[in-house]
Amino acid sequence: MAESATVASTVEVEGIVHTVTGDIATSELGVVLPHEHVLIDLGRFFEEPTDPLEQEYANADVSLENLGWVRFHHRQSRDNLVLSDVQSQIEELRRFKSAGGGTVVELTPVCAGQDLSGLVALAEATDLHVVASTGVYLDEFQSELTRSMSSQQIGERMARDIVEGIDGGEIRAGIIGEMGCSWPLTVNEEKALRGAVFAQLATGASISIHPGRHPDAPGLLLDLLSSAGAQLDRVVIGHLDRTIPEHDELVAVGRSGCFLEFDLFGQESSHVRYGPVDLPNDKTRIERIAALIDEGFEDQILISHDIAVKKWLFRYGGHGYDHILERVVPRMKEHGISDQALHKMLVSNPARLLALPTSFGR
Ligand SMILES: [Zn+2]
Repeated sequence: MAESATVASTVEVEGIVHTVTGDIATSELGVVLPHEHVLIDLGRFFEEPTDPLEQEYANADVSLENLGWVRFHHRQSRDNLVLSDVQSQIEELRRFKSAGGGTVVELTPVCAGQDLSGLVALAEATDLHVVASTGVYLDEFQSELTRSMSSQQIGERMARDIVEGIDGGEIRAGIIGEMGCSWPLTVNEEKALRGAVFAQLATGASISIHPGRHPDAPGLLLDLLSSAGAQLDRVVIGHLDRTIPEHDELVAVGRSGCFLEFDLFGQESSHVRYGPVDLPNDKTRIERIAALIDEGFEDQILISHDIAVKKWLFRYGGHGYDHILERVVPRMKEHGISDQALHKMLVSNPARLLALPTSFGR
């Protein structure tokens, strides 16, 4: 049993949370992973290599034959970019459940292959709560229909997904995201983002953002959101690990009141580049988080893995969905991060993130 199982499960935030298997109270969430993908299709990222041997690796399923190559070429392997096998994903999520996990926020938007019936099967088989989202990912993933809509139309559709059910079905979204933003932000992404603010004002739901790969991106996005009237204390700036390495710049983002999300735990390869900023290892992530806690930001920090490709799954030699509970939490304790701060990052901050003000008449 992971040490984190000792993290108290009392929650002081009241509200309702939409999950794929029905509404629950925030007190039922337990330990939450606020930014994950369990069923996703990132095929649009695929880049065909030119070398014949690499082409063979690129078009074969991920296995021990090509894993060593896939680990460093993850956008060049077709199979790596797709998580679609519900049965094997049940096994992956069970690892999080047995480590003491309670809830997974699945931030895959429709345009990246959201699979609602698959998510219900996962929740039922693992006894975990699964929160589905409504959002629009990066420009290259957007459908022609989304591109033709106004920001208000996008916002109205998202609000309907939260209040009535996603795409006219029974399952209600519990969060807006993951909102894809490139660097620089494209016209279609800005329009979708304004739609997300519209949906937030209509429903009270939080917005989770994938910022562009540049240290200036979070600040510019927060300015845009703020001028559009967004409630910044219900906005998550994700992927801070690969976006802002400087403490003072993280503090400036934190002063806006938004959630500060370090969601790439377990990704430690400095050879996979995410724009101009090098990916830190977990030790450096923990140091950055500890420094933010020292500055008084413990009520705003969220942590997750953002697992979205096969090479990060346990069965493919990756760190898996239990990595934070099994390995990161003990190391945070070693580093002097208090039980109270851990409880906030794992339980009460995500509860505040997911709490909706009403049940919208249901
Ligand atoms: Zn993500």
